[in-house]
Amino acid sequence: MSTTVLPSYEDATARYEPVIGLETHVELGTNTKMFCGCPTEFGAEPNTQVCPVCLGLPGALPVANRAGIEATIRIGLALNCDIASWCRMARKNYFYPDMPKNFQTSQYDEPLCTDGYVDVDIDGETVRIGIERVHLEEDTGKTLHVGGATGRIHGATESLVDYNRAGIPLVEIVTKPVPGIGAKAPEVARAYVTELRDIIRSLGVSDVRMEQGSLRCDVNTSLNKPGEEWGTRTETKNVNSLRSVERAVRSEIIRQAGLLDDGGRIIQETRHFQEDTGDTRPGRSKEEATDYRYFPEPDLVPIAPDPAWVAELKAALPERPSAKRARLREDWGISELDMQSVANAGAVELIEETIAAGANPAGARKWWMGELARRANETGVDLAEVGATPAQVAQLQALVDEGKLNDKLARAVLEGVVAGEGDPAEVMSARGLGVVSDTGALQTAVDEAIAANPDIADKIREGKVAAAGALVGAVMKATRGQADAKTVRELILARLS
Ligand SMILES: [Zn+2]
Repeated sequence: MSTTVLPSYEDATARYEPVIGLETHVELGTNTKMFCGCPTEFGAEPNTQVCPVCLGLPGALPVANRAGIEATIRIGLALNCDIASWCRMARKNYFYPDMPKNFQTSQYDEPLCTDGYVDVDIDGETVRIGIERVHLEEDTGKTLHVGGATGRIHGATESLVDYNRAGIPLVEIVTKPVPGIGAKAPEVARAYVTELRDIIRSLGVSDVRMEQGSLRCDVNTSLNKPGEEWGTRTETKNVNSLRSVERAVRSEIIRQAGLLDDGGRIIQETRHFQEDTGDTRPGRSKEEATDYRYFPEPDLVPIAPDPAWVAELKAALPERPSAKRARLREDWGISELDMQSVANAGAVELIEETIAAGANPAGARKWWMGELARRANETGVDLAEVGATPAQVAQLQALVDEGKLNDKLARAVLEGVVAGEGDPAEVMSARGLGVVSDTGALQTAVDEAIAANPDIADKIREGKVAAAGALVGAVMKATRGQADAKTVRELILARLS
């Protein structure tokens, strides 16, 4: 183990320039697998969605799924790529138990889509991220290591393989190296994956859920001294949330800077992101392309999409998420910077759906960007997985608008919703959290507060209305925060005028 004292992130990025690159795998939401007719539904009993083709049995022949090719082309078009007029699948040869054919059907030197870009906004500045290639391949099965403490192969007594996922179409999106972003590298990486996810979701070709593995991200990071050549890069795998993308780049920058400070060398290797500690651990040393002995897949015909069809797909692309954000920004009446933080928090669709469910824009935004964002941050999950739905947030806001909940009580109700106690109305009655609207009960509390604070009451009688705040506070305390402050104030002033 190295005993290097790690520099701070600020020190590291003051002395070194990071270059990042991202490889993202997206599992397509086709009904059937890429080269056979097996269903692709998530969560089925292990090894129930398999056939001779995806099990790699001798003599079985693959046939390409048109929906998979179409989805890949649409992703390429949405990422401003050129679409190949003729290309082939390739065999990527390697042995691994979760890959029954001992090769992966993929693409090598003839990707379906090349040379595109994605723009992301960071602090009001546009950063253009080049897309090197978008290619189509198939997913592998899943291996489960049993008996060890960590679920890893080390220490396991046995390993189980589930081939349900083997052969599900996977699209790999590779960026060009992104230099010149300095200390913003982690933020740029996160913004890129967020934008990519939003674009792909808008196409309806994948549910792009990082926690279910339908969007998986590998992050390449290298450091160089200003003016010097780019350094050796490492590839960090297992990055399973937007937040982890940011953390992985950050921790890798700090680790590499510490190593370089000590005169050490960066080894080209695969590293694994550790969700608990937020740092990366070494994995295997990185294979070179030649290790895979790629060659064109002889069992599949080349892919030659008709240019007229590609043009049709291009014309039918949905509204670009960035254009949609500009439109929503107008509708919601918020600043560009506010919209950016909404987008970076992955809250655009959530707020949009909350408004569609009846909430006003300010109310919808308040909950998602306030209480729920804070909670997501604390528990380290993406906002969409925080435990509240847009419909529930809209219902919560409606209860506030109707005066049945005040802000403080609404937050307590939301806590119950997130904890899985049901919809806001259910939580409200189960926890007894409604605003006291019975004016008789409120009047009693008001009279008691006046009786207990004669000097303050006198001041109000003399016209010092500002003093009413102290009495409102006393009533709120007596009603355990369950009174509507505005009503209480009116009752106090009415009594003392
Ligand atoms: Zn199959």
